[in-house]
Amino acid sequence: MAGAALPGGLSERLAWRVARLVAVRSETDTARTLVLEAPGWPGHLAGQRVDLRLTAADGYSTRRSYSLAAPADGDRLELTVQRVPGGEVSPYLTEIYSVGDPVELRGPIGGWFVWRPTDTAPVLLVAGGSGLVPLMAMVRARRAAGSRSPFRLVCSVRTPSDLYYAAELRAGASRDPGLDVTIAYTRAVPEHWTSPPRRLRAEDLVAAGWPPEFEPTCYVCGPTGFVEAVADALVEIGHASERIRTERFGPSGSSAGTGPSKV
Ligand SMILES: Cc1cc2nc3c(=O)[nH]c(=O)nc-3n(C[C@H](O)[C@H](O)[C@H](O)COP(=O)(O)OP(=O)(O)OC[C@H]3O[C@@H](n4cnc5c(N)ncnc54)[C@H](O)[C@@H]3O)c2cc1C
Repeated sequence: MAGAALPGGLSERLAWRVARLVAVRSETDTARTLVLEAPGWPGHLAGQRVDLRLTAADGYSTRRSYSLAAPADGDRLELTVQRVPGGEVSPYLTEIYSVGDPVELRGPIGGWFVWRPTDTAPVLLVAGGSGLVPLMAMVRARRAAGSRSPFRLVCSVRTPSDLYYAAELRAGASRDPGLDVTIAYTRAVPEHWTSPPRRLRAEDLVAAGWPPEFEPTCYVCGPTGFVEAVADALVEIGHASERIRTERFGPSGSSAGTGPSKV
C-alpha cells in the first residue's frame, strides 16, 4: 500500500525542525544543490519532499516545498533549488543562503509519489526541468540499494546547460546497470544533435519508455502543464492510469500542485 511504512510518526513529520546548510553544489548557472544537516531526521523515501519555512526579522514568514534529491543518509538531506526569476524564496536559496545558516523544515511529506527498493516493477521516470529532483532521488536510491529493477529516465530540459546532475546521468548504464537515460531538449540541442529542439511527444515516450504490457510504474514530475501533457500521452499510448504517479511543481502557496496526485 502506497501509504504504508512511511518514515517517522505523524507528529514527527509535522514538527518544524532547524536544519543548517553544510555544503553547496552548483548544478547549473541557475540551480544549486543544498546539503543540509537536520538533527534527528527520521529518514525518508525517494520521491518525498520537505516544506521549508523562512522567517524575516519582522516576523513575516513564508514556506515552500522542495523535493529530496537523494535517499536517506542519517541527518543529511539534499535539495536542488532552481532560481525562479522574481521569486520570493528561490533567489534567496540559490544566491544568498550560505553554509552555516539555519532554515526551518518539516517532513518528510508525501506517500504516493515514492519508490521503495522493495518495488520490483519496471520504472519509467519522466522529468521536466527541476522535476528531475525527486526522480534522481529514485535513481540514487536504486543504486544505493543495489536494486535490479529496470529504470528508464526521460528528461526534458530547455538546453544542454540546464541539465542537473549531468555527469552522473551521462555515466548512465556504466554507473547504473539497468538504467537507460534519454535527454530531450525543448529550446537548444547539443552540437552533434540531428533533430531540432521540441517538446516531448507520445512517440518519444514509446521510443524511450516501456511497452504498456510490461506494466511499468510511471513517475512524472515537473511544471503542471508538462505533467498533464505527459500523463495524457502515457494514457494515450496505453499505460493504465493507476500506474501513473504525478507530482506537479506549480507555484507553492496555492492549493494547486502542493501534493502528489494520481491521474
Ligand atoms: C511538491 C513540490 C515540490 C517542489 N520541489 C521543488 C524542487 O525540488 N526544486 C525546485 O526548484 N522547486 C521545487 N518546487 C517549487 C518550489 O516550491 C517553489 O514554487 C519555487 O522555488 C518558486 O518559489 P519562489 O518563492 O522563488 O517563487 P514565488 O515567489 O512563489 O513565485 C514567483 C513567480 O514565479 C512563478 N513560479 C513559482 N513557482 C514556479 C515554478 N516552480 N515554476 C515556474 N514558475 C513558478 C509564480 O507563479 C510567480 O509568478 C516544488 C513545488 C512543489 C509544489
